[in-house]
Formats: sequence, C-alpha cells, structure tokens
Amino acid sequence: MNYNIAVIKGDGIGPEIIKEATLVLDKIGQVYKHEFRFTEVLAGGSAIDKKGECLPKETIDVCKGSDAVLLGAVGGPKWDNLPGEERPEKALLNLRKELGLYANLRPAILFEELKKACPLKEDLIKNGIDIMVVRELTGGIYFGERGRRDKNMGEEAFDVELYSIKEVRRIAKKAFEAANKRNKKVTSVDKANVLESSRLWRKVVEEVSKDYPDITLEHMYVDNASMQLIKNPNQFDVILTTNMFGDILSDEASMITGSIGMLPSASLGKGNIGMYEPIHGSAPDIKGENKANPIATILSAAMMLRHSFSLEKEAKAIEKAVKKVLTKNFRTLDIIQDDNKVVGTDNMGKLIIEEIN
Ligand code: NAD
Repeated sequence: MNYNIAVIKGDGIGPEIIKEATLVLDKIGQVYKHEFRFTEVLAGGSAIDKKGECLPKETIDVCKGSDAVLLGAVGGPKWDNLPGEERPEKALLNLRKELGLYANLRPAILFEELKKACPLKEDLIKNGIDIMVVRELTGGIYFGERGRRDKNMGEEAFDVELYSIKEVRRIAKKAFEAANKRNKKVTSVDKANVLESSRLWRKVVEEVSKDYPDITLEHMYVDNASMQLIKNPNQFDVILTTNMFGDILSDEASMITGSIGMLPSASLGKGNIGMYEPIHGSAPDIKGENKANPIATILSAAMMLRHSFSLEKEAKAIEKAVKKVLTKNFRTLDIIQDDNKVVGTDNMGKLIIEEIN
C-alpha cells in the first residue's frame, strides 16, 4: 500500500528527531512492502522565518490532502516575544482545529528497562505503569472566549471554559473505545464540585457509558487525580479529561514514566487522518547537539501506523525494536543510568532500525 504523510519538522530538535522517525518508517516500508511518501511542509518558527506566518495555507492544504501528519515540535526563544496569535505554538492549535482533530491520545508507559528512571517508590511500580490519557483537544478554556476589560477593581482578564454536549460525547466515545481494547476502565477527570462545565461533562459521560456496559466508569476530581497518579498510578487504565486538565495530567504522567523524551501522542478526529507527535517541545537547549531522544517521535510513528493506517503488525514491530534496544542498554542522555551505553540521536535511530527485520 502507499501512504502519503505530511511531515512538519518544526523547530529546535524537531528536524533531528523527525529524520530518525522517517528512516524507521522507510525500513518498515522495505520489510512490509509499503511505500510511505513524505511531503515536507512548514509550520511554527521556521514558517514564520520563511513565510511570515506560523501556519501557511499551503501547509494546511497539504496536511488535509495527506493520510496523516508527522510533527516534530515547534517554538523556541527566538519567537517568544511575538504576540500570542503569531507565536509558533498557535500553528498547532490551528492545525488541529483545521483537521478536526479533537481527541488526543497520550499513552504513558513505563518500560521495564527504565524503571530506575521513575521517581516513584519501587513497590508502587512493580507491575509497571500503563495509562492512556484521552484529552479533549479543540474545546474548553484554550478555545473559549477571552479578553481584558476595565471593571471597578481596575483591569481584569478572563478565559472561558466552555463545552457542548456534542463535544463531550464524541471525546467520551473515544475514551470508551480505547478502554474496550485495554483494561476496560475509564476514569473521567473533572472539577464537578465547582465548575458548571464539569457538571455537564459528567452527565454526558454517564450517558455515553450506558453504551459500554462492560467498561467500568469512575469520576474523579482533578485535584485528587493529580495526587492519585503519584500515590497509585496502577489504579488507572484510561483517563478521560478536558483540554486543560489533560494537558497538565499527561505531563505529570510523563514524568512518572521516566522521561518526556519517551512519550508519543496521536491527535485524532472523525476519519482516519491523524497528527502524530512527541509530547515534548522543541528542546532548544539541546538543539543540534545530537543529544535528543528520538524514541517519542519514533513511537508516534508507530501510533500513526496503528491508528491512521490500521497496520498493527508494523506498529508492534517498531515498539518491539525500541524495547530491544533498551534491553541492550543503549540510552540517550535523558534516560541514562549506571552502566548504560550512551548513544546520540542518530545512533539511537540506527539501532532501532537494525532491530526491525
Ligand atoms: P521541552 O519539552 O522542549 O523541554 C523540556 C526539557 O526536556 C528540556 O530540558 C529539554 O532538553 C528536555 N527534552 C525535551 N525533549 C527531549 C528529548 N526528546 N530528548 C531529550 N531531552 C528532551 O519544553 P520547554 O523547554 O518548556 O519548551 C521549549 C519550546 O517548545 C517552547 O517554545 C515551547 O513553547 C515549545 N513546546 C512545543 C510543543 C509542541 O510543539 N508540541 C510542546 C511543548 C512545548
């Protein structure tokens, strides 16, 4: 089969990690007889520099015409002083909206080999960690009305958290479907003791759960959830939550799995098209030094094979190859411990490719 992939290298370490992920896909193509055609497009800081805007129309058009989008990361100090609407990160929010990608799947898995990198006590992680955070991506406070105004206390600012029944229903379905393929438990995280939007969220999630009688549903307030993730991460299977709560909780989940350089993500919508990217940023502090861990991006490519192309066998081949390289004790600097062998971005990619056959 042939697959068209729009590739956004982005800024900072983006080009380095994307290079390794595309080489891994090339190897999968050779072994399993697929052709992955990559079309490079600009977004983020590099697009601002070359085209004068963070998300050129050409990028949107190419992404819409592709089967999937693979993204490195955008942003960096060079563009930090631009107004919010013009910043590189705005490209991602707008692209997700343009592509109708409302569900963000963020698996947080602690590899056996990286147990020592987990800051939690050993007895809490003896059975590993395997959580899927399903975060709503195109609604909530990040997209609600915002502004500044003068009132009797002087200037004030506001951001509105807003969710429609339709938005909650479609993300809840994604979470229940994900739980169906996993350990059949959904924890819906909200702040229903305070927020009206959370009370609607909870009611709709309850309704959707009736279509999934085999799946256990529990509700948890976000403050408790952030504590429980550290106290007993194994109680979670799928965490379903809003845009902002998901943003925060998934970073917390990434920390307890060792390194932000390990975690992939998929942004999905109604059809098969999806956007796949590591959860970390552009790491400008290590840009161009061959120190970046490419595994999160390579595992994002595996998620692309699974979710957009239904190539489960090929996705597993990548995941197994990553595990084998870790078992052989090769590590990038961010996950180094004791007697590991340090490798750079390029060699980590090479080692993973060698394990795919
Ligand atoms: P970051 O994730 O880029 O970096 C945080 C720390 O983790 C740094 O010390 C970095 O060196 C390290 N790190 C990150 N990825 C790594 C990897 N693959 N291998 C090894 N180490 C890694 O977060 P930040 O420093 O807060 O943000 C830097 C820039 O990235 C900012 O401009 C921010 O807005 C942007 N950002 C972009 C995205 C995205 O494109 N999706 C997400 C988050 C942040």
